[in-house]
Amino acid sequence: MQYINTKAFAEQQDRNDPLNSFRDQFHFPVDQKGNPKIYLCGNSLGLQPKQTSAYVQQELEDWAKFGVEGHTDAQSPWLTSHEDLAKPMAEIIGSQPEEVVIMNTLTVNLHLMMVSFYKPTNTKFKILIESDAFPSDKYAIGSQLKFHNIDPKEGLILWKPRKGEHLCRHEDFESLIDLHKDELSLVMIGSTNYYSGQAFDLERIAKRCQEENITVGFDLAHGAGNIQPNLHDIGADFAVWCTYKYLNSGPGSIGGCFVHEKHIKSTTIDRFVGWWGHNKDSRFNMRVGFDPTPTADGWQLSNPPILSLAGTRSSLDLFEKAGFDNLREKSIKLTGFLEFLIDELKDSSISILTPRNASERGCQLSIQMKNADRSLFEKLTAKGVVADWREPDVIRIAPAPLYNSFTDVYEFIQQLKHCLHD
Ligand SMILES: *Cc1c(COP(=O)(O)O)cnc(C)c1O
Repeated sequence: MQYINTKAFAEQQDRNDPLNSFRDQFHFPVDQKGNPKIYLCGNSLGLQPKQTSAYVQQELEDWAKFGVEGHTDAQSPWLTSHEDLAKPMAEIIGSQPEEVVIMNTLTVNLHLMMVSFYKPTNTKFKILIESDAFPSDKYAIGSQLKFHNIDPKEGLILWKPRKGEHLCRHEDFESLIDLHKDELSLVMIGSTNYYSGQAFDLERIAKRCQEENITVGFDLAHGAGNIQPNLHDIGADFAVWCTYKYLNSGPGSIGGCFVHEKHIKSTTIDRFVGWWGHNKDSRFNMRVGFDPTPTADGWQLSNPPILSLAGTRSSLDLFEKAGFDNLREKSIKLTGFLEFLIDELKDSSISILTPRNASERGCQLSIQMKNADRSLFEKLTAKGVVADWREPDVIRIAPAPLYNSFTDVYEFIQQLKHCLHD
């Protein structure tokens, strides 16, 4: 695509954008004068869809009106509310509805998945992660190793960027597998790295793991709603994600979990269980032994938080209307425009850490500001830009295709220019 560095070009792109009207369906934070901020932080917390309030209100009314009978009589009966979300969520992650369950939060789901899928033996006990994995994932995995009496120094293998580089190379992943295949029990990778914005080739990773009989799981925190990971076809064993980033379900809202079809009917896989994972037909008999639901729901412990589900449903309805392929198409153009404008700055103190190739990234670009410190970011914030700063010198900018515009991206660059030259 040919870009032009003018505001008129950005506005023209917005007029031609078939998804442009979705922007009006979101609340944008405003500055003291009431002007909307330039919000480029959907990688951290997605904006609130305007209709979410009505979805939540409906649940409150149903609760007021029906009390406990809302489980069956609410507009979206609470007993099956989470099941209704499995289908639209399956579209987002590329799976079958039976492979998805919306429950808990990301880190909790990671622990539950490791209970089932990390089965160390005396010889095959190691876990491979990317070196710059998100801290919560590192803590969870470290504590699982310790739980099995394995010293994380012994048990953890890190896939690192080469010296002087910021991105992980797939050929280095494959070399690590060659070297450690007999000791590796689990590979667990963040599908899109939260820091660099690098999106890994999940199919390539999964294939290599399957060849060596290594279990493979993905953390889709920065992937879900950003890039469709095609989990079923690539044969991932499990995946976990949150819904409050690109999926706009609300702060601290409920997480998602994928278990591949090949595992969902198993009655021998170990798991931590609760009543909501019990087969629906006899769940309320309350006396029988545990009979797992033969879908990903078999991993559910508790009855789910209905207000969080309402926020999730509101956002997924918008995703369904927009169509994921359309979103991705726009996203590639929008982030490409951001990249073009950063290059146009021709400022040697600025570099983009994220891969240049659109197939190796989602919407986020991580910009390294050499010789800058947090004060630059604070100036940007004062100018109404909402982005995020990661020590020591990286700004993450994530234009979300559902609500961000080409004009947002253009305006961000104008503000960045002011901050660099003031
Ligand atoms: C945001 C994020 C989390 C957050 O975990 P919660 O359990 O939802 O608080 C975990 N892992 C990654 C990679 C993330 O980006």
